[in-house]
Amino acid sequence: MYVIQVASECAPVAKVGGLADVVFGLSWELAIRGNEVEIILPKYDCMRYDHIWGLSPVYEDLWVPWFGEAIHCTVLFGHVHGRKCYFIDPHSEDRFFNRNTFYGCHDDVIRYAFFCKAALEFMLKSGKRPDVVHCHDWQTGLLPVMLADIYQHNGLDTQRVCYTIHNFKHQGIFGHDVLAATGLGRPEHYYRPEQLRDDNNPSVLNCMKGGIVYSNFITTVSPNHAWEARFTDQSHGLGHALHVHQDKFGGILNGVDYSTWNPELDGFIPSQYSLETIEGKYGNKDALRDRLWLYKSEKPIVSYVGRLDDQKGLNLICHAAHYALGRGAQFVLLGSCSNHEIFNQFAQLRNELGQSVDCHIELGFNEELAHLIYAGSDMMIVPSAFEPCGLTQIIALRYGTVPVVRSVGGLTDTVFDKDNSHVDLAQRNGYAFDSYDNFGIESALNRAIGLFYDFPQDFRQLMINGMKSDYSWNHPGIHYSNVYEYIRHK
Ligand code: ADP
Repeated sequence: MYVIQVASECAPVAKVGGLADVVFGLSWELAIRGNEVEIILPKYDCMRYDHIWGLSPVYEDLWVPWFGEAIHCTVLFGHVHGRKCYFIDPHSEDRFFNRNTFYGCHDDVIRYAFFCKAALEFMLKSGKRPDVVHCHDWQTGLLPVMLADIYQHNGLDTQRVCYTIHNFKHQGIFGHDVLAATGLGRPEHYYRPEQLRDDNNPSVLNCMKGGIVYSNFITTVSPNHAWEARFTDQSHGLGHALHVHQDKFGGILNGVDYSTWNPELDGFIPSQYSLETIEGKYGNKDALRDRLWLYKSEKPIVSYVGRLDDQKGLNLICHAAHYALGRGAQFVLLGSCSNHEIFNQFAQLRNELGQSVDCHIELGFNEELAHLIYAGSDMMIVPSAFEPCGLTQIIALRYGTVPVVRSVGGLTDTVFDKDNSHVDLAQRNGYAFDSYDNFGIESALNRAIGLFYDFPQDFRQLMINGMKSDYSWNHPGIHYSNVYEYIRHK
């Protein structure tokens, strides 16, 4: 089958969070299953060009209709660790993807509406006729709308769309200008509740709703989150649309790319290790301490790696830092953040705790340090308010780092509490808590740190259980292939 992934991120070239890992990992899995797979991305100025091989123009004269005129684009092709990637480079005064940032611009919806239009125009003009176009998150929600209402009539008439929602919180809200720019027009048509009209605010339209209404199949990134999206407030207002389209909606748990995230092969860590050589992990603990100037002692290292966003349980993370230090552990945080208030909150935490020889707070995005933290820490916290899938706990499991998580979304599907007698002993791999408050995370961390000190053999067994679990792309690869086959023949 011929599949084109259209996305705003792909690891490691354009990575903000888990979406990038998914596009990277899933594309490979589909390719080794015998599919022809290509990825279309914006050509950002701030990409990691050192991870693109042979980048060169392949389509010089792509003219993308826009506001009744046309914008000239060049399409470049290169390999990203074996994945075939096309990069769209618009030559527009608006400098759509030359902003030295991926997201956070006032005109993000216009930027990505343009990207969707350019991706379709590229397929049309270059003769690409994939069986399935796989779109991701709000940034590509308008692609299936334009495919059905414009491009289907121009030659892209058999293409099917699978649409994956990685995060319901960001939906892409817009108005008449985007309809005019893209050529969709017809506001009286799209401003209807069964169309793109936002269910919370009737005066605006919603990209993600477009993806839901117009795609042939919609997935989200874990079965539990699919349930939450349907039956709780976690779809951030899209519950009704999901109800209407329930026959084409389901959850597929994300995988992790084990050639990137594998302590046996990881080139970013000084001491490679596996289940059989688990002691090697402690070489990385030493290296982490050296790098972050932490005191060498018997203490466990509790860590956090992730975006610093309200979704991630920021107050609980701050509380956990204080609590871990008080409970005889060290604490390490690597967090990226584009919001000034949140940045200041964590800069303050750094001021409060940064002098301690047992704590390090690092603000920024750092792929290499992330690997060392997964390998060198003993426990990793994920106290999210909501978490569609969550990859950090899955990566932690692979590195024998015991996850301490809030039971929500995909965290529920992947982390099984050490003391949960309803779960098979061999499946228990971490600690989980329910209540979203300081007491919740304290009780789970207390149990984890207590086990580390008082029952080291049991702690070791938890690490082993985690390392044994299989969260590769193998299973999700089967599920996505089935979805593609299903929509292709429907
Ligand atoms: P989300 O998609 O909500 O950001 P996930 O847990 O699904 O969260 O995926 C996070 C991915 O991004 C993981 O690969 C994690 O290692 C990586 N990551 C997040 N923040 C950082 C950071 N500050 N530095 C390096 N890697 C990070």
